[in-house]
Amino acid sequence: MPTSNGATRPDDYVAARHAMVRDQLESRGITDVGVLQAMRDVPRHLFVAPEWQSEAYSDRPLPIGAGQTISQPYMVAMMIELLRLPGQARVLEVGTGSGYQAAVLSRLAAQVYSMEYFPALAEHARVLLKRLGYTNIEVCAGDGGAGLPQYAPYDGIIVPAAAPRLPQPLIAQLGIGRRLVIPVGEATAQELLIVVKHDVSYTIERSIPCRFVPLRGKEGWSAQD
Ligand code: SAH
Repeated sequence: MPTSNGATRPDDYVAARHAMVRDQLESRGITDVGVLQAMRDVPRHLFVAPEWQSEAYSDRPLPIGAGQTISQPYMVAMMIELLRLPGQARVLEVGTGSGYQAAVLSRLAAQVYSMEYFPALAEHARVLLKRLGYTNIEVCAGDGGAGLPQYAPYDGIIVPAAAPRLPQPLIAQLGIGRRLVIPVGEATAQELLIVVKHDVSYTIERSIPCRFVPLRGKEGWSAQD
């Protein structure tokens, strides 16, 4: 039976998850206790195919089908920490993929809206998240570069896919004082940016170099579609 932390029952990977948090996250400077606890709780191995489960807690992204990847644990934790979510937050994720990052976010937010470009991935994640007992995540198939204006403004927007430029619709859907975390740059190398929304303007903070799968659709590299 699902429990409140989304796990179906105590699993064989608890020790691996604790080691992942200690060796990959705390050792690299992730300090947000909520993020660390969520990463200890969410069963990452259930978000990859059976043949990848033994690798689920390794320090790397893994394939999830449709040419997409579940992000490296450190990148998931860092991006969420950078959001600096307030209590009772409503969050938008652009790029559901496996649903793993949405599951971690759901432990820290009141409601998560997650958009996925590939309908098959969206459906897979929707079914899995429901089966694991996550009730505060809504997965929507579609081009997330346009955001989800009907639920805006958001207390945080996270984009685990690389954009050629800042998607203005997402900045428009951010609440005042809230943050958008997104990799921006070339197709093969980007920089993680934090956009902080002010009254009418916004400021940009730069974080680390990174490499994500490309954002598709209108705000992405639509020539690939
Ligand atoms: N957060 C995911 C990993 C994301 S990988 C996880 O935890 O597994 C990036 C995802 O973004 C891919 O699934 C890709 O299909 C999706 N994506 C790319 N462009 C998109 C767009 N314009 N709208 C919504 N999703 C998009």
